[in-house]
Amino acid sequence: MSGRAECRVNKLIDLESHTWDEDRVVDWVGQEKARKILRIPLRNFCGEDRLAWNFSSNGIYSVKSGYQIALQMNNVGRDSPSHSGEPLKIWKWIWSLNIPPKIQVFLWKVANGILPVKTALSRRRIGLNPMCIRCGLEDETMEHALRDCPWSNFYWRASPLRLDHLANISNASIIDMVMEMAQAGNTEVEETFSMLLWALWYARNALIFNGKELSHVDCFLMATTSLHNYQDGRRKQLAKSHAQMPKPAGQWRKPREGVLKINTDASMIQLEGTGIGAVVRDHHGDIRSVLMKKFSQEFEVDVAEAVACREALILASTSSFPRIVVETDSQVLANGLNR
Ligand SMILES: [Zn+2]
Repeated sequence: MSGRAECRVNKLIDLESHTWDEDRVVDWVGQEKARKILRIPLRNFCGEDRLAWNFSSNGIYSVKSGYQIALQMNNVGRDSPSHSGEPLKIWKWIWSLNIPPKIQVFLWKVANGILPVKTALSRRRIGLNPMCIRCGLEDETMEHALRDCPWSNFYWRASPLRLDHLANISNASIIDMVMEMAQAGNTEVEETFSMLLWALWYARNALIFNGKELSHVDCFLMATTSLHNYQDGRRKQLAKSHAQMPKPAGQWRKPREGVLKINTDASMIQLEGTGIGAVVRDHHGDIRSVLMKKFSQEFEVDVAEAVACREALILASTSSFPRIVVETDSQVLANGLNR
């Protein structure tokens, strides 16, 4: 084992043929892992190594992808019988809603039971009074603040959604209430509910931190107006970006004079490997080179497109043309090259 622990990746590569040393890879990590490793194409040129985030197609870390991974890791082995398997479902639901991002984050906190209500804070800060500021009758739990307090109970009954039945299920957790709304099957209702829930929390914060009392109607107006403004803004933004989008290219077009155009393609043949192809054409549309190559590994789709592109560029680099344009079907690859 000590010998294996010292093994470096370059020891697994045959430097002459610039391919994986399959026997060594299998010997080192076993058949199953070796299959995955052998599917990774090796780079042709030497260059600096760089760290890449494994969970996004462009190798760059984003908060969203990090959060999803953290969520998956958090759920492994978690003993939560009442909501097991649901976090991912509710995550998808929240991100499918056409509501402001800050309200998506708020919903996520509610669904995870991590809203900073007074009972939660008083557990950490000795001396903090956990009593509800509105009624002064009960401790402020999430359920009390968002549903069971007489003020909140009336809020849901009088709201534009008239949620009498939700106001009556005081034995269920607020997470169940959110889950029930997530399954309403009516996007408009789900989005309005989310905004109303947020407005209720906003009013509670305004009272506690600023001493400002908002009425039920103030909250209803704030919820519905914020939703309308956000959706209207997005609609206009989408229409604008749609108008600015380049028209679809349709048929193949010749490049400008002095420019070579490469069109690449790749196809995966199950159990047989990957085939790549490229055509290099000049400004007359005349074919200057054609490339066809087969690999025994079955690459991922975008990886195969990238390999096709790489091979075509090597081919075109031997020509005297100073400029080369590449057309590919892969949006991921195009984004990566244009970065
Ligand atoms: Zn109360």
